[in-house]
Amino acid sequence: EEEFDGKPSWLRQKAPQGERFQEVKESLSRLNLNTVCEEAQCPNIGECWNGGGDGVATATIMVLGDTCTRGCRFCAVKTSRNPSPPDPMEPENTAKAIASWGVDYIVITSVDRDDIPDGGSGHFAQTVKAMKRHKPDIMIECLTSDFRGDLEAVDTLVHSGLDVFAHNVETVKRLQRLVRDPRAGYEQSMSVLKHAKISKPGMITKTSIMLGLGETDEELKEAMADLRAIDVDILTLGQYLQPTPLHLTVKEYVTPEKFDFWKTYGESIGFRYVASGPLVRSSYRAGELYVKTMVK
Ligand code: SF4
Ligand code: SF4
Repeated sequence: EEEFDGKPSWLRQKAPQGERFQEVKESLSRLNLNTVCEEAQCPNIGECWNGGGDGVATATIMVLGDTCTRGCRFCAVKTSRNPSPPDPMEPENTAKAIASWGVDYIVITSVDRDDIPDGGSGHFAQTVKAMKRHKPDIMIECLTSDFRGDLEAVDTLVHSGLDVFAHNVETVKRLQRLVRDPRAGYEQSMSVLKHAKISKPGMITKTSIMLGLGETDEELKEAMADLRAIDVDILTLGQYLQPTPLHLTVKEYVTPEKFDFWKTYGESIGFRYVASGPLVRSSYRAGELYVKTMVK
């Protein structure tokens, strides 16, 4: 297999292009909005912003600041015990900017804010409400923390008017302590996802697992079975990539064929949609996935 930077060639990123991509990019430059897509130099930006065959353009933004109270060993986000307080104007300002931007589906995510009593769920909920007020037909996914297992915080968000509740379990059960901050955990993440579904029946729930951290096929099957048991609808699987030499090393580069296998397997055990591929990230073509999930 041909390699670049010591990585298999299938991880090479394509230059973004496409008419819709240009349009979305141009409309963005007028707005005071930072997207995760651009800041993280996400390889999927062309596909997500173009919206693929269904024309559902997706982008991801981050609220609640850029500094996390946790420190997961796969994540390069800045960490502090006392990040600056959230900007009370952020929900309204973000909503206005998003409403005048040309995207159809927005993923709102954040760092973990263990320093805020509700973990930031009220702030998330306000952002969702303001967006739906400014642009009623926008579809919204919130990709949240576990709120330290606070199920009332989950309720607040689930009843805010969002379309998809996403929380990432990140890895299989055995590797949780190695990969995630000790305040996170498998059971806690499962309980949050389970509660979102129970709190609002019909709520679409979604999660993501990184591959290549040393998990076995059996362990991945177990995690997938556990997620189906709590009725999680959408699963995304992508290759873990080490962000800096200080982060966890990659144990394996999973082949595109193996990712295809996991998509078929996941859909065979009842996930309504599985996006699986080396460059898939949890918000990868999220709008298209949501629309496909709803028509299935
Ligand atoms: Fe943006 Fe997420 Fe798509 Fe990357 S995968 S371009 S971060 S929406
Ligand atoms: Fe990164 Fe989220 Fe972990 Fe914070 S909680 S370090 S943002 S993965």
